[in-house]
Amino acid sequence: MDLRGRKIPVFLEEIDSFIKSENLNGTSIEKSPCMTIRGGFIQCNRCGGIKEKREFKLPNGCFYCPDCTQLGRISSNQVFLHEATPKMLPALDVHMTWKGALTSEQKRCSRKVVQAVLRRETLLLHAVTGAGKTEILFKGIEAALKQGLRICIAVPRIDVLLELKPRIQDAFQSIDLCCLYGKSDEVYRLTPLILLTTHQLARFHQAFDVCIVDEVDAFPFVDNPFLEFSLQQAKKTESALIYLSATPGRIAKKTGHRTVDRVVTLPARFHQHSLVTPSFVFTPDWRRQIQEKKLPKKFGHSVQQMMEDGFPFLIFYPVIRDLDNLAEILSNEFPTLRLETVSSIDEQRIEKIEDFRIGKMDCLVTTTILERGVTFPDISVLVLGSDHPLFTKSVLIQIAGRSGRKLTRPDGVVRFFYDQKTKAMIESKKEIRVLNHLARQRGLLVDSFKLASNRRNPVF
Ligand SMILES: [Zn+2]
Repeated sequence: MDLRGRKIPVFLEEIDSFIKSENLNGTSIEKSPCMTIRGGFIQCNRCGGIKEKREFKLPNGCFYCPDCTQLGRISSNQVFLHEATPKMLPALDVHMTWKGALTSEQKRCSRKVVQAVLRRETLLLHAVTGAGKTEILFKGIEAALKQGLRICIAVPRIDVLLELKPRIQDAFQSIDLCCLYGKSDEVYRLTPLILLTTHQLARFHQAFDVCIVDEVDAFPFVDNPFLEFSLQQAKKTESALIYLSATPGRIAKKTGHRTVDRVVTLPARFHQHSLVTPSFVFTPDWRRQIQEKKLPKKFGHSVQQMMEDGFPFLIFYPVIRDLDNLAEILSNEFPTLRLETVSSIDEQRIEKIEDFRIGKMDCLVTTTILERGVTFPDISVLVLGSDHPLFTKSVLIQIAGRSGRKLTRPDGVVRFFYDQKTKAMIESKKEIRVLNHLARQRGLLVDSFKLASNRRNPVF
């Protein structure tokens, strides 16, 4: 087992046998308590959570942390074993194998990323959905690798990770890349570049010189002290921290209590067409209609139109337990429509997403699991029940951002079907307009006029 940069919880009485069985070098291993007990409180040293100890007492008299049990329960009779990461890894003579070209705006952001890496600064990169954030990072990653720095890219979910991994590997083909998530069977090793889901940060200690945190404004990172604590533990004291976000409004508030040295904004997509602005469609009683297996009329018309357009489309629907109903209604009404449902609890979601991507289906009906990080070319998006509380402003911006991501179809259709118009809906639309305006003002867009296909959209 490679323990360098990691912290592994081990029971006190099993330390020696663990070191022996894992063939570790006992002299270089540091030990620290998993929990700190102060008076009537316990603090977890993995997630930072503080709790009243009497509520979390085990039958053996020890205390456990209830907040980070998804990584395996830790308790006060365990210690972390940790081995320091080398101060520097060997500097790598790396050649970036990505052959694409950046727009001048992407280059400007890319220079800021490199600067943040070299100066170990904290940078916030606001880039709209489809701005080409990953490509903007490449030069910064290259600069870090050349210096022997260790980089970690933390993303919110497995789907995003699985899409990102081949892109990073393609860009840095000679680099050993370790990819860690909840159920991955990949064995941890000391690689210069690590990709992980955000929760995995909690298994590291003073490990990274550069941390890139994707979608910092979104679930699970936002308002989650556990993940913020883990991030602070996982990065070295002197390190660069690059936060990525597509919804600047949310982040602007957060920066009040985070120290960000620099902020760089990219309001335009890489293909220089504006973001697709959602249109609102009044759909009274959408939930009841779906429960009664009726197709809301205007929603049905839109599905019909999507089929006539001939492009694949996503339908977002907020309630998992109605998904089957919705799929049944659609299949009855549109027998030729090839569709599948996929939700966060679907075991085959990775396969289904892949099938949609390669064109085996016309339509994927989903909850919010596909709203960020995944790119399907040429799609349109319908959100049935956009007034549901699950659809926050940030989620709606991300959902709208699934459309028009590629130059092959930079416009697409985005429609929100609602019963009661919400603040989140209004603000998401406003923010998209503001960003488009900003991009247009800066001369970053080629489409100064709405594309003809968008003009067809009814605006309510
Ligand atoms: Zn904890």
